[in-house]
Amino acid sequence: MTVVEMQDLRKRYGKTVAADGMSLRVEDGEYMCILGPTGAGKTTALRMAAGLLDPDRGKVLFDGTDVTRVEPEYREAAMLSQVYSLFPHMDVNGNVMYGPRIKKWHPRESEDVAHNMLEMVHLHRRKDAMPNELSGGMQQRTALARALASGSKVLLLDEPLRALDARLRIELRREIRSLVKAMGITAIHVTHDQEEAMVIADRVAVLRKGRVEQVGTPREVFDNPLTPFVANFVGQSNFFIGKVVSSGEETVVENERGVTVRARPSPHPIGSEVAVAVKVGNTTLKLDEGFFLGRVERVLYEGVTIHVDVMAEGQRCSAKLPNRKFEEYSPGDEVTVGWPPSEAIVFALPPGGLQEELRLD
Ligand code: ADP
Repeated sequence: MTVVEMQDLRKRYGKTVAADGMSLRVEDGEYMCILGPTGAGKTTALRMAAGLLDPDRGKVLFDGTDVTRVEPEYREAAMLSQVYSLFPHMDVNGNVMYGPRIKKWHPRESEDVAHNMLEMVHLHRRKDAMPNELSGGMQQRTALARALASGSKVLLLDEPLRALDARLRIELRREIRSLVKAMGITAIHVTHDQEEAMVIADRVAVLRKGRVEQVGTPREVFDNPLTPFVANFVGQSNFFIGKVVSSGEETVVENERGVTVRARPSPHPIGSEVAVAVKVGNTTLKLDEGFFLGRVERVLYEGVTIHVDVMAEGQRCSAKLPNRKFEEYSPGDEVTVGWPPSEAIVFALPPGGLQEELRLD
């Protein structure tokens, strides 16, 4: 069991800054997801934790000991990547026994560990199969058993479910989490998929441009984002730009055209320029109840929900509504866009502008 700390990690590739002062503390036995868009530096972070990449500056600590310059094989951290990376010429058992064998454990002990691991991932009956005889899900389970069999106290997972189909992804993410919890190991799991991060993690670290922008429980980062970027990246938000006109139990914000909206209390002074963020799932489209008028552009049926795009106040906003409302909206309909003020968060308008703040690259 291990506490993993990344302290002010920096890494450049030529002009590209992949890690720009990355700091994160992962508690003993915690399941941490590092969530961010492509290019945010997630893999770089994980490879530095694994010892596969040297940071230019900063430290990696395992249980308070500086391991920054310690080789991967001495770090007690196992890596599970998106490609299954099994040894193709070894059967399932051989793959899982690889770590114990390298570590020169007693053959009997290695056999026992491999058997237990394969039972845990429900593959003990396929222990003689070769990797190419297994489905993608089974191969990834074998890779997981192999990663855990070596007795590592830290599991590093790099988009481990990316190559699997949607149903298998959901099944396997549950299994990975329960296995990690049962073994009490510390896990750091990198993903760009916010839904995956929400359901699998104890806490989520949202990464942007090589820095950790917010760390919190899935609920904290979803309900109380600290920045417009997090508000939008985790769960998609609509934004309304204006100036604070009154402040108190609610914040009232007015745009240039005199439209006013209401939001949560905020510390921003009257007259300051702000962006009000509200999740698409909290946005309402009603006949005459709301803050401003808009016109429906398109309605997408998504299964459990529908997604409605609306042009309003010169910009597009969206709402996610229950699928039973599908018949209620058609392109061209006039609707009133609104939200419960308690669900709308007021941010200072970012200095570089909102578009720049929300950019994913
Ligand atoms: P993520 O995993 O979040 O997609 P990465 O850590 O892979 O992000 O990459 C972060 C940034 O560093 C990206 O801009 C990427 O292009 C760059 N980068 C990563 N690895 C290399 C490399 N070996 N050489 C040059 N640039 C790299």
